[in-house]
Amino acid sequence: MTHITRKMKKQLTAATYSGRKKDDQILVAGAGGFIGGSLTRHFHDQGFTRIRAVDKKPLPLWYQKVPDVESLCLDLSDQQNCKRAVENAVEVYNLAADMGGMGFIEKFRVECLRSILINTHLIEEAYHAGVDRYFFSSSACAYNTELQKDPNVRALKESDAYPAMAERGYGWEKLLSEILCQEYTAERGMKTFIARFHNVYGPHGTWDGGREKAPAALARKVIEAQDSGDLNITIWGDGSQTRSFMYIDNCVKGVDMIMHCDDLIATPINLGTSELISINDLVSMIEVIAGVKLTRHYDLDAPRGVAGRNSDNSFIQEVLGWEPDTPLRVGMEKTYAWIKQQYLDRKAGKPAPAGEY
Ligand code: NAD
Repeated sequence: MTHITRKMKKQLTAATYSGRKKDDQILVAGAGGFIGGSLTRHFHDQGFTRIRAVDKKPLPLWYQKVPDVESLCLDLSDQQNCKRAVENAVEVYNLAADMGGMGFIEKFRVECLRSILINTHLIEEAYHAGVDRYFFSSSACAYNTELQKDPNVRALKESDAYPAMAERGYGWEKLLSEILCQEYTAERGMKTFIARFHNVYGPHGTWDGGREKAPAALARKVIEAQDSGDLNITIWGDGSQTRSFMYIDNCVKGVDMIMHCDDLIATPINLGTSELISINDLVSMIEVIAGVKLTRHYDLDAPRGVAGRNSDNSFIQEVLGWEPDTPLRVGMEKTYAWIKQQYLDRKAGKPAPAGEY
């Protein structure tokens, strides 16, 4: 739980765990979702042969269904299901949570808080099953909201979570689940790893239906406006709120690196970019990608979240010698193209079953 000093960084290669075997049993929880689906594909592409993917969503609704993966529909808020899910697992990645963009997490705080059941049961069963490494996907929403009241925000560093004043509901659940991981390490010697994701975006994620986050929601709105010829767009808040957005490939790579760095056991670490952008500028970027100019309307009553949030990446740079590096413009072009295809397929009445994206 100590921070890494520069001297320790020099020994980093030695501290990076290299004892993985391609036939180690891996569990990805929340694998029907955006990040879990991409992480499952990542391990599959790396040649891991025993991957178990679990989600409570019925299989046809998974964003990605990866071949040669044991895919199970189980509700992991139930302890017996967790026991089944972790059977023979060497590594567990917990990406399962009831979550969404601001529209969801401000409205459904109870659902967000109830995700505590997933981590509570999953880590306990992982411990009893003798799992070697356990990863928990935390969030920048765990940070003290008092530090995020200005769009020109000072980037958040790991120590800024305390004194705690997390985002109501969702953020407190993340903070408590982090503590659970840390205490399993302190008291029971289990190797746990915790990344605080800043906003993640990219293909194969939620782009419609109420749980989507700002990049996908704005891309969809631009596509709808262009397609309908009604060249107006409604933006939540006054558009001055700032964020950083991490491309999905960087997220997956970061999770893998963090999970196998022994210096990070039970040590929360930021996983996000430090490329800060306002929502207004994000809309402008998407307009350029789409080749359209829209009239903006601002819904000041809509959920808008904190005024500003950015990731301080000095710790990840120091410990891993890397930080998420895909420029937003590059990632948004790929994301926009993917969402446009989904939109056109749906309009044409083409079903978009999992795995065929
Ligand atoms: P997602 O909603 O696409 O995926 C989460 C998945 O968990 C869903 O498929 C859902 O069905 C599943 N799930 C929910 N409850 C479950 C249960 N009881 N049992 C089994 N599965 C269950 O979200 P995501 O964007 O992929 O997020 C993955 C993780 O990363 C979550 O823990 C989330 O809080 C965290 N996170 C994401 C972001 C982001 O920008 N996407 C930012 C910060 C943190």
